[in-house]
This record gives sequence, structure tokens and C-alpha cells, in this order.
Amino acid sequence: MMYEFRVSEMAEEFGVHRNTIRNWINSGTLAAKEGPGRKYLMKFEDYQLLCEKFGRQAHIKPSSYVDPDKVRKLEEDAHRPEPMVLGFTEKTICADTSWADTCLTCGTCASACPIAGVDGLDPRKIVRMAVLGLEDELKDTNWPWKCTMCAKCENACPAGVEIMALMRRLRGLRDRDLVPGPIHKGVVTCLERGNNLGIPKDDFVFLCEELGEELEEEGLEGFKTPVDVVGAKVLVTVNSKEPFAEPDDMKYWWRIFHAAGESWTISSENWEGVNWGLFSGDDESMKTVVGRIVDNMRRLKCEVLLLPE
Ligand code: SF4
Ligand code: SF4
Repeated sequence: MMYEFRVSEMAEEFGVHRNTIRNWINSGTLAAKEGPGRKYLMKFEDYQLLCEKFGRQAHIKPSSYVDPDKVRKLEEDAHRPEPMVLGFTEKTICADTSWADTCLTCGTCASACPIAGVDGLDPRKIVRMAVLGLEDELKDTNWPWKCTMCAKCENACPAGVEIMALMRRLRGLRDRDLVPGPIHKGVVTCLERGNNLGIPKDDFVFLCEELGEELEEEGLEGFKTPVDVVGAKVLVTVNSKEPFAEPDDMKYWWRIFHAAGESWTISSENWEGVNWGLFSGDDESMKTVVGRIVDNMRRLKCEVLLLPE
């Protein structure tokens, strides 16, 4: 006997996210195959085993019984050559082409998007275009750059489509010299000089020491800015706009650390805590910047990392 189910039904039954059920099916953990419509089929014994694993009673609905002839026909159909789908090319940027079935074109994402309609931006349209392999067209639009990456669309999506990952991949497709605004320049500056605004090491260390002296004069007895203190518990990274334009803002943090008796330090190099590769879709640069912070953690033997952003 075969058991027929929808992903959403099984997710609700076992109290897991529907993506979890899809992952189980894709990985073979759940021995199910595609059935009619958006349903799946699995052996009833396998369904019972799953129930046992979750410590619950098998739940059988009349619609769960499937005619064996129907199953045979489905298996025959499964072995027929796939029809060619117009426009669905190997260029698709969706790593998981099942998105073509996953997206319901319900438009919930567009309803949730705070900037839907701005310059024609519509997350549902973007997902459809991506599924159809229209990446060149998407790459040339400004939609991925207008998107604030707030994730409201993704959170609202009933099908679990990873719209945020799609937006970032689209950003990453742009030639770097066509990335709008200063964010790619910031990434390059950070890679070359250790922070987004290119503040030299000596200037940064001088500023930190000077702010420390000011704090001591303001009543923090014995305060000295802890730069490159090996063995400090917390490594504090810095948003470069603070030393550049708002240095006094750093003092608020430092006052709290001092009052709490915290063991903390700042690195004199690669101290930038804002990773603009995240915004520009540049995964390689992002990894490099993260790797430098990890190196600082190891070099200074810190246990805890504090990122300002
Ligand atoms: S909310 Fe999800 S399923 Fe609905 S149109 Fe948007 S991406 Fe597709
Ligand atoms: S992440 Fe982008 S597309 Fe999604 S809701 Fe936010 S602004 Fe709209």
C-alpha cells in the first residue's frame, strides 16, 4: 500500500518546516517519489516507521490510499523523456531548479515587500525570471540593488523560496565596476588597506590611544585603550565610520566595558567590522575579510567576537 501526501501536510503532521521534508526527500532520508499534482508517494510501511521515529500514531486519511495501477502508471510516466521547457536554460542561477515547482506565484512576497512597485520591482517576477533562466536580463536591472535585503518577502513566502539568496547571487553577477554606489570601492579598499575607508594603521592606533586618554581625564581611572592585548576575552571590531567621523561614539562602548570590568581588545590591523562584500554579493571578498577577523581572534587568543553590525 502506498501513502500519498503533500509536503505541507507532512510538515504540519510532524511539526517540522516544509523545507525539512523536501530536504529529506531530496537526500533520500525519506523514500518518497513524486506523485500526481504536487503530491508525493511513499510506502505505507516507511510512513509507519517515520511515525514510530517521531513517537506518534500513523495518521491515515482516505485520500492516502492509492490504487496500485495508478502507481504503476506514474512510474511509467516517470521514465518518459522530459519535455523541453521553453526558456528554461542551463544558465539558470537557481541552484535548485525545483523552484520552478516550488513557487506558487501567489504574490505573497510582493505583498510583503516594502518597495514593491518601485521601478517595477516585484519579488515574484524576479523569482519567475530566475527560474526561466533570464539571468542576463535580471543582472542588468537595478532591482537587486533597490532591494533592501530586509527578507520580508522570504519570511512571508509560504513555499520557503530563498529569495534573499537569489538577490545576493544576482548582485554577484554584475561586473564589479558596474556595482552601483561606493560599496565595491569600499570592498577593494578594505582588501588593500584593512578597512572600508582606508584609515592608516598609525592614525587608527593614535586615535584609540587619544580617546583612551580622554576617558581617563573624564574620570575612568587607569583607563588605557587595549589595543592588541593578547589573551583578552573579547575582540571588538570597529565600524570604520566611527574613527573616521564619529570617534566619540566608540567611547560609549568603552565606558560600558570599563564599568563591567570586561577583558577586551581591539586589533591594530584589519579591525573593520562591516563587511561590504555582503552587500555587493562578493562572496570571495567577504570570506577574505571574515578570515582576517578569525586570524585576529587566533593571534590575540580571544574567546568572544563582538561585531558592531
Ligand atoms: S511568496 Fe513564494 S511562492 Fe508566492 S510568489 Fe513569492 S516566491 Fe512564489
Ligand atoms: S528583501 Fe528585497 S524584495 Fe524582499 S521584501 Fe525586502 S526589499 Fe522587497
